[in-house]
Amino acid sequence: MEKLPAKMKAIVKDGPHYGAKMMTVDVPKDLEAHEVLVKVKAVSICGTDLHIWLWNEWAKEHINVPQVLGHEFAGEVVAVGSEVSLVKIGDFVSSETHIPCGHCKQCRTGNMHVCQNLKILGVDMNGAFAEYVKVPEIVLWKNDPSIPSIWASVQEPLGNAIHTIFTEDVTGKNVLVTGAGPIGLLAIGVLKTAGAAKIIVSEVNEYRRNLAKEIGADVVVNPKNQSLVDIVKKETDGDGADVLIEMSGNPQALHDGLASLTNAGRASLLGVYDKDVQINLNDLVIFKAIRVYGITGRKMFETWYKGAELLKNKKLDLSKIITHVLDFDDYEKGFKLMEEGKCGKVVLKL
Ligand code: NAD
Ligand code: ZN
Repeated sequence: MEKLPAKMKAIVKDGPHYGAKMMTVDVPKDLEAHEVLVKVKAVSICGTDLHIWLWNEWAKEHINVPQVLGHEFAGEVVAVGSEVSLVKIGDFVSSETHIPCGHCKQCRTGNMHVCQNLKILGVDMNGAFAEYVKVPEIVLWKNDPSIPSIWASVQEPLGNAIHTIFTEDVTGKNVLVTGAGPIGLLAIGVLKTAGAAKIIVSEVNEYRRNLAKEIGADVVVNPKNQSLVDIVKKETDGDGADVLIEMSGNPQALHDGLASLTNAGRASLLGVYDKDVQINLNDLVIFKAIRVYGITGRKMFETWYKGAELLKNKKLDLSKIITHVLDFDDYEKGFKLMEEGKCGKVVLKL
């Protein structure tokens, strides 16, 4: 076992304001029986990290400062608690962000991702934007050594896309994705591997519309100057889309997405809205017999098996979706790219 240093670099939300600082902090020690210490090799910046960076209303309510940011990572196990049996020193791992209690009704019925006592890495506790991170073994995922750490670090958001897409099957179906942010872009990649018939993408940001096209969207729409409903109808012989994958968190996109669905279609909603959303349930859902799924997190660990197998067997190529790989010290540049939306996934390498 390598000797652990006492101090490490970490990106810390140091106070109740915009931004975050690279600081020297203590390496986590005194592992509990089921805790694991991971030496981090790559981290990926999530929309949640951006919210904390920007210090928006949600962040003000949920984050206690000072705190280490981040939750999407890949790294190597360097120390294990006395009772850890899932992983051993030297294993290459990533991690779920949703830390379940293991005891509540949801945990015991296959729904750990919506545990009643859920804690979130990098939100409720110090996160992974550091040289070392401490996590309970229950959330760890062993990576195949053939997967590059940069790719392994984005399995968590990839899992969001997979969970959203596969609430029902998509093969041979016409699918509308609203919002081609990092997760929407991952969704396009997954939909291609899953044999979706036609992938229609709606996105307001030009950089991301171009990226969506490159990754394999069949039709890309700018809803600001084109009618999404008209285009979807035209592209589907007047029927409308079979499936809506809502990944924008924008109320207009939700409305137009539901209006673009064919009767008896399916909507899976991952996007999170800033405030209460008003839609006409009668016209958009009930009389159209739409099945609406609310999606949170990933199925633990069904989703992880799917994502990891796609990567391991080279069925999913992340090289165009991860648009920027930066040095850990260049984190400010990474956050700025996210702020401007001129990126897909942004990964920092340690
Ligand atoms: P993101 O905010 O980076 O991406 C959203 C994209 O939607 C952006 O590219 C934006 O330009 C686009 N958009 C905005 N308005 C639009 C409109 N009217 N029509 C089409 N596109 C529009 O977010 P992300 O990280 O890719 O995540 C996607 C969504 O999922 C976000 O709302 C995020 O908060 C949410 N999320 C939910 C969960 C969950 O567990 N439910 C987990 C992670 C993320
Ligand atoms: Zn639980």
